[in-house]
Amino acid sequence: MSENDLPGPDSDELRQLLTREGLRSLYEFLYERRANPPTMVEIREHAAAENGESHSQTDRRVRERRNWFKLPAVRSGRAHVYRLDGRADTIRDGRGGISPRVRGEVLSAKRCAQYGKTPADDHVKLEVDHKIPHSWGGTDDIENLQPLCAQCNHDKQAFYSSLDPFEEQIRAATS
Ligand SMILES: [Zn+2]
Repeated sequence: MSENDLPGPDSDELRQLLTREGLRSLYEFLYERRANPPTMVEIREHAAAENGESHSQTDRRVRERRNWFKLPAVRSGRAHVYRLDGRADTIRDGRGGISPRVRGEVLSAKRCAQYGKTPADDHVKLEVDHKIPHSWGGTDDIENLQPLCAQCNHDKQAFYSSLDPFEEQIRAATS
């Protein structure tokens, strides 16, 4: 048990590790409930109340969470509870576990793969995007990565979120 090793919800380290607000909010909830770990139903209720998340969004965050922290499901009475239990053995870097070399290679295109905007001419910020998202089985292989400007990346994430109700079918179709 490496609980003492867990970064505090307000620490700089956590902010660097979990760049997305929803993931940090989930972490904070799990962190506060270490002594009395929540069930999946409680986690979903919390996320819906706090961030207006759908259940499938929350379930995906719980899966993503496991990239960074151990979150075993532990039997408690008739339910399973989810207990934050130290760092994952291989900690991903919060950007999907992509090595700096691969990141550099993807971003060396220096233009958004969607509409071709560039940091130099259009003052956009380029980000590494997974063509097929992690949560749908996409890998960190360079073939699955592309540069997107922050706006296109945001739009794409919003688009995928809108597909959440169909996530299971799409995952089955793309696997
Ligand atoms: Zn773009």
